[in-house]
Amino acid sequence: MTSSEITVYGAHWCPDCRRSKQFLGEHQIPYRWIDIEEDLEGEKFVIEKNEGKRIIPTIVFSDESFLVEPTNAELAQKLGLKTKASRNHYDLIILGGGPAGLTAALYTAREAIDTLVIERAAFGGQAAGTEKLDNMPGFPDGVAGIEFSQRLRQQSERFGVELLQAQDITGIYHRDNYHGVKTDDGSNYSARALLIATGSRYRRLGVPGESDYLGAGVHFCATCDGPFYKGKAVAVVGGGNSATEESLLLTKFASRVTILVRSANFKASAVIQEKVLSHPQIDVRWNTEVHEFTGKDSKLTELKLLNNRTGGKETLPIDGAFIFIGLDPNTGFLEGSRILLDRWGFVTTGHALLHGDKRPAGFENRDPYLLETSIPGIFAAGDVRDSSTKQVVSAAGEGSTAALSIREYLKSV
Ligand SMILES: Cc1cc2nc3c(=O)[nH]c(=O)nc-3n(C[C@H](O)[C@H](O)[C@H](O)COP(=O)(O)OP(=O)(O)OC[C@H]3O[C@@H](n4cnc5c(N)ncnc54)[C@H](O)[C@@H]3O)c2cc1C
Repeated sequence: MTSSEITVYGAHWCPDCRRSKQFLGEHQIPYRWIDIEEDLEGEKFVIEKNEGKRIIPTIVFSDESFLVEPTNAELAQKLGLKTKASRNHYDLIILGGGPAGLTAALYTAREAIDTLVIERAAFGGQAAGTEKLDNMPGFPDGVAGIEFSQRLRQQSERFGVELLQAQDITGIYHRDNYHGVKTDDGSNYSARALLIATGSRYRRLGVPGESDYLGAGVHFCATCDGPFYKGKAVAVVGGGNSATEESLLLTKFASRVTILVRSANFKASAVIQEKVLSHPQIDVRWNTEVHEFTGKDSKLTELKLLNNRTGGKETLPIDGAFIFIGLDPNTGFLEGSRILLDRWGFVTTGHALLHGDKRPAGFENRDPYLLETSIPGIFAAGDVRDSSTKQVVSAAGEGSTAALSIREYLKSV
């Protein structure tokens, strides 16, 4: 469908309108938004459709059919998303359809390992939401994140992977020799092995304009997007190790790096602090918070800053902003399971589970396979994994490595 084919009529204050817009956005489905508080024709249209009532959201589709206050499940059904698996049991269930999950899936399906992938949003994960991937081997001119994700999806489908969408995984369980997955529509699916590939998400500031300029001036990865800013001025938000280290990396491209730190000091190692503070291309502003991102022609141009000590306000002209205030793994659904996580919630795998010669419980007769978790038969790959490098290529590489380990594991059960 194209943007002209779906129109969402709603209002800025309406929580169900926000939920529907978020659902469409997460599934990368374009739509036109009409705020009926500002558009009298739009308001009239909604009242006509709803027999005199002003009910929102009212969502109109290309065939002129419409849904009023739909649930996410109703929207998914209308959009033809596959939300139910064809069977209850598989050789392998992959949790998450980003680069790690889909790469693993195409490897396992090619080897006739019966594979189901469960995804809650758009296939391609964080990569699907990336304007341009400039560091993908084999793409000399870069590739749009959405195109890369569509290709990955098509490739896994070609090998017969079954893909479910709009299904939030809420928990995992173990029964006899099987592992199982629960989804938010109440379904349970079991498998001989699981792969956790649910990725992570960069923390955001949550201030106006931030999401409007994602990929168009607002970034979370200096390795990925720093080279776009050769000779330009960028800001870095954050005061920890990532912010300071990434600022040093950015000086290789940008002519000027301004670090905006909310507190009056860095929380980075002394060596890095020293390097940053003495660097001729770096300025540091202490006690400084971004309270708005603004721009022109869909591109970020300015940051509105607030000094939280003096209350002073300032506008900083800027070409790009990099936010490094932390990364959260998508592992909430593992709560209560016996999967070992590190102190930040990332999944621990392979040799990191061994303490000297001591193996974890359940591994009396063998060491864990590469990328296997603390529960035999459950593997993890990509950004969700402890010590992963948070890059598309490495997530895909871990997906293939996990697939090979899973193949070996399945021979034994
Ligand atoms: C803005 C941005 C720009 C980036 N630019 C680049 C770049 O230029 N180059 C580069 O190499 N890397 C880039 N990255 C990083 C890269 O996208 C990630 O490293 C990569 O996507 C990780 O892949 P993954 O499969 O491990 O996880 P993800 O891509 O995070 O995929 C995980 C999937 O699991 C799903 N999921 C999570 N929880 C659940 C659940 N409970 N139920 C069902 N599904 C679930 C998510 O919806 C998601 O689709 C960028 C990241 C961002 C955010």
